[in-house]
Amino acid sequence: MALIVQKYGGSSVADPDKIANVANRVLKGYMDGHRMVVVLSAMQGETDRLINLAREMGDPPDPRELDVILATGEQVTVSLFSMFLKAEGVHTTSLLGHQACIYTDKAYGRARIVGIDASRIKELLKKGRIVTVAGFQGVDEVGNITTLGRGGSDTTAVAVAAALKADLCEIYTDVEGVFTTDPRVCKQAQLLPKISYDEMLEMASLGAKVLEIRSVGFAKHYNVHLRVRSTFSEHPGTLVCPEDEEMEAIPVSGVAFSTQEARVSITGVPDRPGIAARFFEAVAQANIVVDLIIQNSSVDGRADITFTVPKGDLLRTLEIVQQVGKEVGTREILSDEHIAKVSIVGVGMRNNAGVASRMFAALSQAGINIMMISTSEIKISCVIEDKFTELAVRVLHDAFGLDQPRVGKG
Ligand code: ADP
Ligand code: ASP
Ligand code: MG
Repeated sequence: MALIVQKYGGSSVADPDKIANVANRVLKGYMDGHRMVVVLSAMQGETDRLINLAREMGDPPDPRELDVILATGEQVTVSLFSMFLKAEGVHTTSLLGHQACIYTDKAYGRARIVGIDASRIKELLKKGRIVTVAGFQGVDEVGNITTLGRGGSDTTAVAVAAALKADLCEIYTDVEGVFTTDPRVCKQAQLLPKISYDEMLEMASLGAKVLEIRSVGFAKHYNVHLRVRSTFSEHPGTLVCPEDEEMEAIPVSGVAFSTQEARVSITGVPDRPGIAARFFEAVAQANIVVDLIIQNSSVDGRADITFTVPKGDLLRTLEIVQQVGKEVGTREILSDEHIAKVSIVGVGMRNNAGVASRMFAALSQAGINIMMISTSEIKISCVIEDKFTELAVRVLHDAFGLDQPRVGKG
């Protein structure tokens, strides 16, 4: 008899029939004798609908009140789900974030879980109940409702699994697991029977939204036995687990992409100590996360700095950079929203030479110009024009032999 945490995403609970389908899946585990904790997302499209509704009251909406309205999306699904089970005569209890004692910091809209008191969930499980927890939400130290950021129900599930020391945490979604790349963009994408925590962290941070990045961080830190599976099939899906020798033999495991960033270039900045710090300190103070940065070598004592920020932060970044630019002196400040970042990820990169050159050659053969490059131990990212995103993903997928079916057990 195992303790299992299952999380179902928005498309899995998109309407009453789908909620009934999820309830029947959960019931099967329960009837097999397992203790079941279920974490649910809001119905597909509901969080977006609530954000748009809130914007009608003034844009941007007040962050505290936005979290109050966003938390209602998950409140609806946990209650519908529990109503269905109760009508079937099953003992179940739904819990909102604060009732499940999911404590967060006070960063509305992107709160971090700082602790979970799992005693109430444990008590209910002891009584033989199925416990349903609203994903994506928590409560700060003074009782304000907070939300964890988009895709945050994955994090709720993994954090609850860690707090309960669950035997298994299953993330159910609308694809059969983690693929070599987004199966909606590349038809040749192959299901990975397993992927290491570190590769999954990179894939998630580079744009693969199949798992939210913080959920993977939690899983790695607490060694959660994590599986990604489909709500609509019986396929065992993908195991997310510690690295092994088999993984190290493969130079590239996956291709990720993101079109969520914009590029800012500051030309003709004085090339002397402290100038880059002036710009980036000011941007950081506005809580804007800078991703890739390049600086070219100086000509006549002046250099160019180029970096990327989330598209939503571009206008604010330009204001800040223009202000600092006035103080230190620059030639021009330019920006470009039509960029994409394509990345290859693999723990095997550490021991395989020539991966970067293969990537650059594949992109150039497809006529794709590389604007920026960034590398880490297990990933290489290139910034390109966004109109080439899908072509770049397919070309890289092919260049690293990812079209071949993966054998091996997860
Ligand atoms: P949910 O609502 O269940 O949380 P998401 O939409 O957040 O689902 O995540 C699932 C989606 O992630 C898939 O439909 C797929 O398009 C996308 N995705 C992106 N990259 C990958 C990948 N490498 N493997 C699987 N799915 C991916
Ligand atoms: N409902 C939230 C969202 O759409 C959280 C989640 O689904 O994980 O982002
Ligand atoms: Mg998701």
